[in-house]
Amino acid sequence: MPLVSLSEILPQARRQKRAVGAFNVANYECALGVLKAAEAEKMPVIIQVFQRLFRSEKGSDLAGTLLRLAHRCKQPVVLQLDHGAEPDQIRAALAAGFSSVMFDGSKLPFDKNVELTKFAADYAGTFGASCEGEIGHVAMGDESAITTVADAVKFYQATKVDALAVSIGTVHGYYTSEPKIDAERCREIADALPEVPLVLHGGSGTPPEDIRKVIENGISKINIATEYMDTFLKSVRRQLDLLGGKFKPIDLFMDPVVDDCAAHVARLMRFFAGK
Ligand SMILES: [Zn+2]
Repeated sequence: MPLVSLSEILPQARRQKRAVGAFNVANYECALGVLKAAEAEKMPVIIQVFQRLFRSEKGSDLAGTLLRLAHRCKQPVVLQLDHGAEPDQIRAALAAGFSSVMFDGSKLPFDKNVELTKFAADYAGTFGASCEGEIGHVAMGDESAITTVADAVKFYQATKVDALAVSIGTVHGYYTSEPKIDAERCREIADALPEVPLVLHGGSGTPPEDIRKVIENGISKINIATEYMDTFLKSVRRQLDLLGGKFKPIDLFMDPVVDDCAAHVARLMRFFAGK
């Protein structure tokens, strides 16, 4: 089916207190794993491509494959640029056919973040695409800045993004110490913005009980990059070990790897949906 935007799947998820998984991919096999899981579970899904791939031709090259896979999928698929860092990446992703973009100005001064996010939201709108923004900052490591309720409200009113990423204690990458997730702050932001789908970045490795709590408190999109890519890489290593130095054509070699990836996504999709 045709691609959908965030605004076609997230408001409903927020109302029903469930979350849609957003999985980062950088190759065909990881993308195939996500879409196989969506079909098996009969659930919508979000595929994300990190902004670094748009610093070269990788992002646009990959877009051709992703669009074909998404169109063939029988479930709604959002194709989103993740952490767009500059307006040119927003333009490139939308020109390549993406149905959603994130602009991440979370490290910029508030007004600059508003200005560039609003550009991204307005520009995406001309394509019928959606836009995610971020206020507060989810870092790699311990430099995160927890989102305040006042900033979240002011930022949303100024940008009218379709989804709002908030910083409530998760980090990008794997945790190096026990995470402290501020579910109460999440609830306060959700209460102040009752219609707005909230996004959790840095979902990888977050304890399930924390994930459950924040979904209950307004999170309706959960980003998973690190642990999904890790599953892919570990599965490749397992297959190589099984071969013991023998040769196998790559397409056949990858079939069980795709199955491992699909199983990982399906498990998370069910959990995020409260099943
Ligand atoms: Zn992120």
